[in-house]
Amino acid sequence: MSHGVLSHGGRWLGRLMGEVDTKKIDEVGIRFLPEILKSKGYTTLAIDWLGRWHSRGYDYYSGMMRHAKPISFPVTRVDSALRVLSRRYVAFQKPTMIDDAHLVTSQARNLITKYHDKKFFLFIHYWDTHAPYAPPTNFYKNIGEGGANKILRGIANPSSWKKRNWKAQEYIARYDACIRYVDHEVGKLVEHLETLGILDRTLIVLTSDHGESLTEHGIFFRHHGLYDVSLHVPIIIRYPGFPKNKRIKGFVQHFDIVPTLFELLKIKNSDFDGKSVMPLIHEEVDQLHSAVYAEEALYERKRTIRTATHKYIHALTRKGAVCRHCKRIHGGMEELYDLKEDPNETKNIVKEKSDVTATLKKDLTEWIDALKF
Ligand SMILES: [Zn+2]
Repeated sequence: MSHGVLSHGGRWLGRLMGEVDTKKIDEVGIRFLPEILKSKGYTTLAIDWLGRWHSRGYDYYSGMMRHAKPISFPVTRVDSALRVLSRRYVAFQKPTMIDDAHLVTSQARNLITKYHDKKFFLFIHYWDTHAPYAPPTNFYKNIGEGGANKILRGIANPSSWKKRNWKAQEYIARYDACIRYVDHEVGKLVEHLETLGILDRTLIVLTSDHGESLTEHGIFFRHHGLYDVSLHVPIIIRYPGFPKNKRIKGFVQHFDIVPTLFELLKIKNSDFDGKSVMPLIHEEVDQLHSAVYAEEALYERKRTIRTATHKYIHALTRKGAVCRHCKRIHGGMEELYDLKEDPNETKNIVKEKSDVTATLKKDLTEWIDALKF
């Protein structure tokens, strides 16, 4: 079953579409994972602040925590300079009220302690690896006073972002520190499960809804674009009896997670389009899917199909090709990349390989046409 949601309901187009999409979810009558688990006797808990449909089906939904405080950047001078001078880079202009990872962990630990002797489902949303990247200073490899001065000079001319690689390095260093921070916090959660004696009967799934373009494709510390830097995200599953430290090859998409959970939890439900990843884990098959598909509708209106060897991206309209954030077209109306030769997706070969383009375009169209909503 497909719900047809194309946007999370952010600003501009997203706000408008978000309102429409919320109704659409209700109209198609889809039940969400927490709603289904609740009907199976699980206590459903979430530490998340996104609200809207994200809060459906939970017995407890945190919302914005009382203790959340505005994020400030580790280098205060850079923070204020960014706010004043770098108006184009909205994400860095103003500190935002976001729950800090250690607050999320703290509340998660309290909930786990409270419900550890019952069947519970807990959704935990860490935001720290999202812009603005503001890790605690002990996870941040400080660039020092000289580096900070360089940054201040660079900000006076935002167009220097592309040319001045050191500035990109500053944000990449922050992003890395944020990942270190969340990794540390997840470790604390795992330790807590172990202390309570329930680690070996707890199923843990760790994933992300997007990566980040750290200057790749002219996208600066954002995650629009259908390139692998944004699409290729981690998924780690820990479950009693599963092989440890085993890396699985083969395509998996987020819509495969719920069918996987249902198989492990012995829940019968065929409403979901994805496939359980168990055959991949047990090496019964090499691939679940011959390709993955993705679509975006917030800043650009584009679709993609990615096979093991190629990626094809196309804009649905000329207007949809122009990035609303960057005010330019990333990559063109149509793009084709040979991922074996060019894994960073830098050389558009849509014209040279018209046969591959035609095949992938047909496959993508058929897949979209088959969706029911
Ligand atoms: Zn853009």
